[in-house]
Amino acid sequence: MCGIVGFVTHKSVMKKLMMGLQTLEYRGYDSAGVAIMQNNQIITRKAVGKLVNLANSLQLAPLDSNIAIGHTRWATHGGATENNAHPHVSSSVVVVHNGIIENFACLRDELEEQGFKFKSQTDTEVISHLIQFYYDQSQKTCSDRLKSLQQSFNRLKGAFAVVVCFSDAPTEMFAFARGSPLSFGVRNTQSQDQKVQNEYYIASDPLAFSQWVEQMCHLSDNQILHICQGPDTDSYDLYDMSLSKIQVKLEQNSLSDQFVNKGSFAHFMLKEINEQPRAILDTLAHVMSLIDQRKESLDQYFNKARETQLNLIACGTSYHACLVAKYFFEKYARISTTAELASEFLYRSPVLKGNYCFVSQSGETRDTIAAHDMVSNQYQTMAIVNVPTSQLARKANIVLTTQAGPEIGVASTKAFTSQLVVYLALCMSQISDVQTKNSFKQQLTIAATTLGEYLQFHTTEIQQLAQHLSKYKSMTYLGRGASFPIALEGALKLKEICYIHAEGYAAGELKHGPIALIDEQMPVVVFVSEENLEKIMSNVQEVLARNGKCIVVLNQACRELFDESYSSKASRINSQMESPILDQLQKLSFLVTPKVGEVGDLFFQSVVLQMLAYYTALELGVDVDQPRNLAKCVTVE
Ligand code: GLU
Repeated sequence: MCGIVGFVTHKSVMKKLMMGLQTLEYRGYDSAGVAIMQNNQIITRKAVGKLVNLANSLQLAPLDSNIAIGHTRWATHGGATENNAHPHVSSSVVVVHNGIIENFACLRDELEEQGFKFKSQTDTEVISHLIQFYYDQSQKTCSDRLKSLQQSFNRLKGAFAVVVCFSDAPTEMFAFARGSPLSFGVRNTQSQDQKVQNEYYIASDPLAFSQWVEQMCHLSDNQILHICQGPDTDSYDLYDMSLSKIQVKLEQNSLSDQFVNKGSFAHFMLKEINEQPRAILDTLAHVMSLIDQRKESLDQYFNKARETQLNLIACGTSYHACLVAKYFFEKYARISTTAELASEFLYRSPVLKGNYCFVSQSGETRDTIAAHDMVSNQYQTMAIVNVPTSQLARKANIVLTTQAGPEIGVASTKAFTSQLVVYLALCMSQISDVQTKNSFKQQLTIAATTLGEYLQFHTTEIQQLAQHLSKYKSMTYLGRGASFPIALEGALKLKEICYIHAEGYAAGELKHGPIALIDEQMPVVVFVSEENLEKIMSNVQEVLARNGKCIVVLNQACRELFDESYSSKASRINSQMESPILDQLQKLSFLVTPKVGEVGDLFFQSVVLQMLAYYTALELGVDVDQPRNLAKCVTVE
């Protein structure tokens, strides 16, 4: 969570800093702030709410400097107030921080005893005061600054990243990461008198500076970066925790063309929904070729899993992709598979066995990384990530990257379907029956090539349903088999961006409790899979019999079978409504998708659930890309 930036240039940097922060706003957006150093003083500017509020404040009263730090916050400790917004200042130290300081309470007591006055409720403020505490005991030279950072970081517990400046060293900047991402970029520039004057960029995500830099790297855990800008030469050095210098290994920036904007779409989420046909095809091509290249190591990995167990671990939407994968690995590859939430896996003392696969769009999800670290000493690990340079990708033994491209909308869409592609391709690689294998591949390709058309021609229909759905307070999503996790994902999307209470259930579970909730105020979205058609249609009947309203998402073939098997056709069911009101949700509505097959249909169901949530959120006027309380990259436990 939280986006942090620190830019060191030879020109005014505020415009770039704000652009960088804007790129990071997906990480947190409850408040924002910047700091510069002027005449040995720290000047901060903060604003509660979205970044635009800070931008407006800076427009009214600009700040100017060629060195600045900034922050966009997702609060963990203390509400979204100006006092709690970063940067946090002690007398000559200023800090922006991402993560949690787990031992902040005892450090705060200790620092208060030393006479430090706290202005915020954040855990972050202990960092600035602690550094100040050690710095005050020194001669305040450059090496003392490093030393005070070393002493402080040695005392902080938790996963975090910081950028730090000292007001008495206004040409320097320091950065440190432990378990939270931090990237460093360099732009080589020449001044008019041919002096080499580099620009330096630090950010939680390299996308915040990728458009300006030629070279970049990621800070590893427990490394302190020190940037020093001089009139003649600039320098940057990297230190380990014993303050020995280590080599900075910069790589060519491969992200320079990934600068993302919404294009002609109203929201990133809509753009990303529409990018799915491309993302699915690219991911399929990429992962198939990787599977070919790494056949031996993958076979080894899956053979071990086959002997014991395959464990798929993730959070949120990625967890739903694991649940879908479990279904296919067991049914077709006959590999015993578990799917588990990282946050539960971590703290339940699991019996460890088999091989482990971790999934995270950002590759920075704290719970998932911690779960990875828990088993990586003893077991082979695989990671499925969308960001190839992320921590999880750097840690795992086998890495498969989805080719979704940067996903900015907080609610995951194209990353989810791309994760499904990776899993299905892996499953395919472990199926011996050639016909089934070919059918998987064919269905994935058909889904990718026909999804675009579906999106084009069915938007209005989904929009109309969304208009109705926006009037309800609660919804249920049902599915069986691989469509059960799709139902869970549908409910999650609705909660995330519409703030409507929603539950996803295995349709067979309806009668074991949730059916008590069914009435005319509880729309039920049902994802039909052909394999379970009869069973799930009985569930639809059960809902209708209790005055519930069903939106049935099914393929063309199932739709035809429905009319054949149930003489009670939709029109009749709808005419049975006691007082049909035109602008009411009908008793029974259908969203019909093309018939692709067991694998391909899942992609249409995914797109339908995303579009239903998106258009319902639009009806409700929710900020779709930045819904309340959420952040895209969950770097805290
Ligand atoms: N713990 C810090 C705060 O609440 C940073 C939060 C984060 O990075 O998510 O301000």
